[in-house]
Amino acid sequence: MGAIRPPASPVLSQILDARLGVHPDKTRFVLELTQAIPFRVQTQSSPYSVVIDLADVAWGGAMLPGRGLVLAVASDNMAPGRVRLVLPTTGPVRVVLAEIIPPRDGRPPRFILDLAPASGTPHAGAPQTIGTLPPPLAPQEPVSPPPELAASVTGPQPSANGPQSAGRPGAGLVVAAASLGRAPLPPRPKPPAKVELPLIVIDPGHGGQDPGAIAGNGTYEKDITLAMARELRRQLLASKRYRVVLTRDKDIFIPLRDRAAVARDQGASLFISLHADSIDRKQVRGLSIYTLSEKASDREAETLAQRENRADALGGLDLSSQPEQVANILINLSQREKMNQSRRFAALVLTSLDKAIAVLPSPLRSAGFGVLTAPDVPSVLVEMGYLSHTKDAKLLTNAAHRRRMAASLVRAVDGYFSPGAGRKRS
Ligand SMILES: [Zn+2]
Repeated sequence: MGAIRPPASPVLSQILDARLGVHPDKTRFVLELTQAIPFRVQTQSSPYSVVIDLADVAWGGAMLPGRGLVLAVASDNMAPGRVRLVLPTTGPVRVVLAEIIPPRDGRPPRFILDLAPASGTPHAGAPQTIGTLPPPLAPQEPVSPPPELAASVTGPQPSANGPQSAGRPGAGLVVAAASLGRAPLPPRPKPPAKVELPLIVIDPGHGGQDPGAIAGNGTYEKDITLAMARELRRQLLASKRYRVVLTRDKDIFIPLRDRAAVARDQGASLFISLHADSIDRKQVRGLSIYTLSEKASDREAETLAQRENRADALGGLDLSSQPEQVANILINLSQREKMNQSRRFAALVLTSLDKAIAVLPSPLRSAGFGVLTAPDVPSVLVEMGYLSHTKDAKLLTNAAHRRRMAASLVRAVDGYFSPGAGRKRS
């Protein structure tokens, strides 16, 4: 296409900013650059990830926590001026858009990558390759014979070309990146980039002056939730597949929104709030799982949310603005994806449960829980059982029962992060 590669030692583009954004239909990865650069994007299925190779770029090696479909952004310097970014994803994804936007309106050139879930599409999981890289200055990657180009090159045409970018340093490279007809380079055999493990935030409900529900035998919900959180943390860490943070590891009061803020601020991939309910009807028992919704799924879920949200009032906080805050967050459309993922995890909890664990009828419910409002962090609230039910209360104070329940939750977490790994309830 007449693109002329600059002579050796091109000026390297700097990365001014790297960010992930969650939209209703996609997760967008953006790099702000000092000049346009060649790139190549490949999807992989084992494990599910997107690999971005960049040329003529300097990368500080910073890692980004995951958001949306992307679990994390890890980087690896492949060669001078060559950087590989590895984005492990929550499942199969397809590249909707991958292109360099030329500088305009005073904004620097940007690399834009849009990812959408691939599940349910005819080509779910089919590998995609978009863009090509120029040969490295010191050739070290053999070029493979051209494969079926039509099959391997998919996705929209990058739109970055035209006179507005001519004459700018690196403008020719934009065209090089846009030359889709070339054979992609084979992936270089190299140990996989170090990827930060997904962070699970576990929230033991209540604490301090807020005991939560109180069992007939005098046991406090706040003590049961903390014991369960510690057991779940122990098992998740033992798997060596996750990082874990507890919102509290002692008997202290924490406002609901501060609990959600822990998940948000630490870039959690999943937020699990643990509770044990209590109601007047003493015969009701079993586990249930809740996700956030503007409208409660039923009246019971609504009154439960009111009970759990009351924790802040017990801690001396003004609760009057809470429903509005919840509503404001729900207005944000980017929450839809988070809510879908929350529901997916909630369903996984149910299918992963040890068969010995009693379950409430229609156990998947939703309501306006104040603790489930961390933006972009899939969040569920697990009511592990009823302290008002004699047997449930006895089981929840039993360490062996907690180990069984924690193991069930670990299976659900495994299933969430690596589809196919979760085992069915049998
Ligand atoms: Zn509770």
